Amino acid sequence: MTVTRFAPSPNGPLHLGHAFSAIRAHDLAREAGGRFLLRIEDIDGTRSRPELADAFRRDLKWLGLEWDEVPAQSTRLDSYREAANDLLRRGYLYPCTCTRAEIEALEPRLGSQGMVYPGTCKGQALDPAKPAALRLDIDRAMADTGPLEWHDVLAGVQAGDPREAGDVVIVRKDEPASYHLAATLDDAADGVTLVTRGRDLFAATHIHRVLQALLDLPVPRWYHHPVLLDAEGRKLAKRRGSPSLADRREGGEDGRLLAAQLRLHRFPDGIALENA
Ligand code: GLU
Repeated sequence: MTVTRFAPSPNGPLHLGHAFSAIRAHDLAREAGGRFLLRIEDIDGTRSRPELADAFRRDLKWLGLEWDEVPAQSTRLDSYREAANDLLRRGYLYPCTCTRAEIEALEPRLGSQGMVYPGTCKGQALDPAKPAALRLDIDRAMADTGPLEWHDVLAGVQAGDPREAGDVVIVRKDEPASYHLAATLDDAADGVTLVTRGRDLFAATHIHRVLQALLDLPVPRWYHHPVLLDAEGRKLAKRRGSPSLADRREGGEDGRLLAAQLRLHRFPDGIALENA
């Protein structure tokens, strides 16, 4: 059975790009007679605003979508800790005490996930007295997993190699997981078979594929859809003046009509699909 999901983070209101993504995931499930899941990704303690999750539900309903909701990430912290401890014990993670400023000072190259960590702390042992993030030793991981592949429905088979992103953070200093670990574990726990999300997260999938191999998780397929861009060619964002779905809903706009337009790739003025 096809199981897709929409997994928003409640750190800002949803906008048209989210609507487009949720509708795509919803329709892919429905066309296949499958299930569409909503998962609230609320482990970013400092930026998460719990009241937004309710607004998200109202937005999706207003668009005419129906879903099954799976537990929010904040209720699953134990499963993240368990997986991280397993990876640590097996030598795939190492503690990193570097601050952002310290890493910046080394002028690292930029990769798909931001600054590529130069490996300063590699080999360091865990000191429980010192708060540390845990990074994936990607060379070690890839040496053990061997070549990996993953399948994107739109882009075809990909050779899974996240080395360009370097030793990414798997457990943050202040949270028991990073996005990469939490989303990968949850997609497996939720039985997601088709991970549907924007193409802006394409490169992250290489990392998720390695984590699946290391943690012996089922491997879904992916559907990375093109994302909506504003008139300057940038991803939509509330801070750049893109009206939120809540603004539109509260302004009396017809959500089902909006959803129908998005399905036809008819977008408001100044908004376009990337590479369209
Ligand atoms: N929570 C992520 C976001 O809001 C989406 C993660 C995903 O779809 O894998 O950007």
